[in-house]
Amino acid sequence: MASSMTFKPFTGLRQTTSLTPESSTLFNKLHSTTTLTTPKIRAALTSPKIAGRKLRVAVIGGGPAGGSAAETLAKGGVETFLIERKLDNCKPCGGAIPLCMVGEFDLPLDIIDRKVTRMKMISPSNVAVDIGQTLKPHEYIGMVRREVLDAYLRERAAGAGATVINGLFLKMELPEAPEAPYKLHYTAYDAKSGAAGQKKTLEVDAVIGADGANSRVAKSISAGDYEYAIAFQERIRIPDSKMQYYENLAEMYVGDDVSPDFYGWVFPKCDHVAVGTGTVTHKSDIKKFQLATRIRAMDKIEGGKIIRVEAHPIPEHPRPRRVLDRVALVGDAAGYVTKCSGEGIYFAAKSGRMCAEAIVEGSGNGSRMVDESDLRRYLEKWDKKYWPTYKVLDVLQKVFYRSNPAREAFVEMCADEYVQKMTFDSYLYKTVAPGNPLDDLRLAIRTVGSLVRAYGLRREMEKIEA
Ligand SMILES: Cc1cc2nc3c(=O)[nH]c(=O)nc-3n(C[C@H](O)[C@H](O)[C@H](O)COP(=O)(O)OP(=O)(O)OC[C@H]3O[C@@H](n4cnc5c(N)ncnc54)[C@H](O)[C@@H]3O)c2cc1C
Repeated sequence: MASSMTFKPFTGLRQTTSLTPESSTLFNKLHSTTTLTTPKIRAALTSPKIAGRKLRVAVIGGGPAGGSAAETLAKGGVETFLIERKLDNCKPCGGAIPLCMVGEFDLPLDIIDRKVTRMKMISPSNVAVDIGQTLKPHEYIGMVRREVLDAYLRERAAGAGATVINGLFLKMELPEAPEAPYKLHYTAYDAKSGAAGQKKTLEVDAVIGADGANSRVAKSISAGDYEYAIAFQERIRIPDSKMQYYENLAEMYVGDDVSPDFYGWVFPKCDHVAVGTGTVTHKSDIKKFQLATRIRAMDKIEGGKIIRVEAHPIPEHPRPRRVLDRVALVGDAAGYVTKCSGEGIYFAAKSGRMCAEAIVEGSGNGSRMVDESDLRRYLEKWDKKYWPTYKVLDVLQKVFYRSNPAREAFVEMCADEYVQKMTFDSYLYKTVAPGNPLDDLRLAIRTVGSLVRAYGLRREMEKIEA
């Protein structure tokens, strides 16, 4: 979630989301070079050909999901419109991204503020465990500012041929016949003149909803709600001498004080740190948790000046409906943030790209109409590839974030080099290196041992409190 989200890794337990041979082949085919390849035309295209024009697709929302979707569509021969309400949007976010995103999305290194190679995991009793020793010299967690990343991806989509519209999507009229268009209503802005927005409409054949957690596209297709966390973050400019400490270091704090069900974080940015926390269960106490996070980090951020305060919902699980007819949801609009770590940037960009690939492929590079079955191919691939990851992180959150003794056990486990290697590998590459059965067994025994100790500690604490 919040920034920390980023760290899927905490866990130490191996994710089961490895690439299957089939998905691995697809993955390699699509991403073996940094340049996006044009998806192949399926053999059995049966939908009607479009005469005299290309398939028209609107992507609503220009975050990582929307920018990636628009670029893929435009490169694949589809007439693409990307509607973003705020071209200098500064999405509240920790901005931590896995190493594989840099390669897969061909991100230039100058948009990455910091390369984090060390992380401190800090327990409720302030025991700090250093993690990162197992990283290879070229490995790191990227720290970006979202205003920089999102603008870069949008500009790249425009460079590939997408028409970027600065506008607020309002609603859409659903088609009245099988191949009739969707009519989108939006308010167009002119950022240069600052003139009041003008109401406009746009007709398209398909729509990708990449408009984040409060998605209007999701509402338009009655996609249903999801439980959400509220995440709060302060960007704090700290003295240069203190910034040196965070040069390549991030911190994660766990404890009832900083969050009853998540964690607090300090993430380094170019000239400041992002300090934040989140919660699903006690949303109205978020400011109290934020204060506690700041207090825990106080000796390292003292003298700092808060330069920005931000908060935003984070989806807890996918929406009941993610595709309807020729409309698909991606990224936060679909609900693709992992529990426990709160990571969503990579999954947003990836789902945007996968959805667009399905449309390009289903439409024969924009020459035919698509239908729901084409969009469902994206869902099938997505669920097959990532569902286990979400499930594993869900369980880990339930096991390790339920009490302070369990969190102490969790931090204790993080000291184990094997745990660190497995968690970093799964986070950085979104795949799992083959484990060592003996080390896996040792880890399982240690996990049980830590939890038993945590349980005993909790019983003792309950006796003292009684
Ligand atoms: C405090 C916080 C910290 C986080 N930290 C991390 C982290 O460190 N690492 C990580 O991986 N994830 C993190 N996340 C999660 C991550 O921010 C999201 O998962 C990610 O931004 C999802 O990308 P997206 O493109 O789906 O949606 P968004 O990034 O929300 O983008 C949606 C875009 O749509 C636009 N939009 C919305 N409505 C309309 C409309 N009606 N018309 C036109 N445009 C519209 C918005 O302006 C926005 O640009 C964090 C989240 C929070 C709240």
